[in-house]
Amino acid sequence: MQRRRYARKKENRFTRLIMIVSIGILSMFIMDLASSQTPTQQNEIELLEIEPTQAFIKRSLEQLNDQYSLLLVNSHYPNTVDEEAIRLLPANKHIPLAAGDTMLEEKTLLHAKLFFQAASEAGISNLFINSGYRSRHQQDQLYAAASDKNYVAKPGQSEHELGFAMDLQLVRGGFDSKEGEWIRTHAAQYGFILRYPQGKSEITGVPHEPWHFRYVGQPHATYITAKSLSLEEYIERLQPGKYYQVRANGKTYLLYRVKAEQNRIEVPTEGAYQVSSDGTGYYIVTIHCDDL
Ligand SMILES: [Zn+2]
Repeated sequence: MQRRRYARKKENRFTRLIMIVSIGILSMFIMDLASSQTPTQQNEIELLEIEPTQAFIKRSLEQLNDQYSLLLVNSHYPNTVDEEAIRLLPANKHIPLAAGDTMLEEKTLLHAKLFFQAASEAGISNLFINSGYRSRHQQDQLYAAASDKNYVAKPGQSEHELGFAMDLQLVRGGFDSKEGEWIRTHAAQYGFILRYPQGKSEITGVPHEPWHFRYVGQPHATYITAKSLSLEEYIERLQPGKYYQVRANGKTYLLYRVKAEQNRIEVPTEGAYQVSSDGTGYYIVTIHCDDL
């Protein structure tokens, strides 16, 4: 009798323990589900037209360091940037590569490195860069040798000549895999956009290329990706004479697109900002509002 009661007590304690553990697991699962269902600020990603509070000054283009990160390169706007103007670095010291001699533009490489680190932490180990910077000469050769010229840009019309583009490759499994989904979801956080998205070939002039990612900078990439735009559509959306506020990665940015007058453009008198020509004759200024 005594023994049976003890056995029942033990059984009760065991049942209670199971229940506590199950509730714990269940609540963790529910919390996790709740946090993953919280909209990832997608609704908050807007170009908000505002009146800026910053003070501005006109500076000559020679004084400004053109970043070229938003430069549009396509069949209508061929690349006219001097190869010397872009700082290229070898990527193989920082990123696992398929091609050992891959070069990328400096900021592109820095952000690609962070992107690859995050991918590795997410358990993606089969990601490589297939192609980065290509000289005009290399693009010439590639175009001449290509059997399907739809997928190879004409020399002068390739973003690879800028060093801001990388062709990714997922060894084992293509871009329809969960790894491909991770890449598309997280690229913008590191400033990259899917440059030739599905359904935009009439605008970009290039068929869907799930592997081609272009560095444009975080605030721009975040908005472009959230709104499923091509770079062409995004640049057109930035109306000269207007100032836009956009939030990305928890930071606030102010952007505007201007034409140079007498070789000068308006920039803030202080604080961190970047200038990039957009290839259409305008300049896009990106102000980092949190770093003022
Ligand atoms: Zn490419």
